[in-house]
Amino acid sequence: ESILDQGPAASIARITMNRPEARNAQNLQMIYELNEAFDRALQDDAVKVIVLAGSDPHFSSGHDLRDAGTKKLGQDYPTVGHWGGFGQPGAHGRYVREQEIYLQMTRRWRNLAKPTIAAVQGKCISGGLMLAWACDLIVASDDASFCDPVVTMGVIGVEWFVHPWELGPRKAKELLFTADTWTAEEAHRLGMVNHVVPRAELEKFTLALAGKIAAKPVFAIKLAKQAVNQSVDIMGQQSAIDQAFGLHHLCHAHNMQEFGM
Ligand code: ZN
Repeated sequence: ESILDQGPAASIARITMNRPEARNAQNLQMIYELNEAFDRALQDDAVKVIVLAGSDPHFSSGHDLRDAGTKKLGQDYPTVGHWGGFGQPGAHGRYVREQEIYLQMTRRWRNLAKPTIAAVQGKCISGGLMLAWACDLIVASDDASFCDPVVTMGVIGVEWFVHPWELGPRKAKELLFTADTWTAEEAHRLGMVNHVVPRAELEKFTLALAGKIAAKPVFAIKLAKQAVNQSVDIMGQQSAIDQAFGLHHLCHAHNMQEFGM
């Protein structure tokens, strides 16, 4: 349900999420298809830059919590992490499932050895934020909006907890505490978004930006990405994400004990 195409130039791979009927909610199938598309773009030496987009009208409404797929994690999909125990009762099954499909998967995409650009229009909610944040650059159309309302469901925030890094601690707290929806302009002001462009120009602008990067020396770009990511890791981002993931699962466990869901 995601589409990998060459875009207008062989040097740019464009991956488009394509479940418009579900506002591009990410189910298991889409997550593993996305991973496969990223892998194919990574292995193709002609591809210099990867663009991630969502079919209209919305980039992504987040994780599909009503995933109706019959395929099973750990059986029907090649896992990317080092976790087993999918389907186990209690906190166990949920913890390893989210380790695999949310934490390890997002970390993998964030560290892909090619530059990635998210082109975001319409709504970008919770798990949608994780996808955009995993990319190196974010271009938003002026109609894009961002929110992570999972505190209202009794959880600290979405699994890939980089809110303080993306927004600064004070605004991260406001986003989480209020569950408000923020405009592309506000996200840009906070440094979370690289550029805001008119809706009609989103694709053209993103491809032009990708083209500019694609013309640069491949190895230097690869190492520049690694240098920035590792700088952030040395500042503690990986450990910060991991500790928040534990608290995220404390929330899941609490909700299960208290409300049975
Ligand atoms: Zn969760």
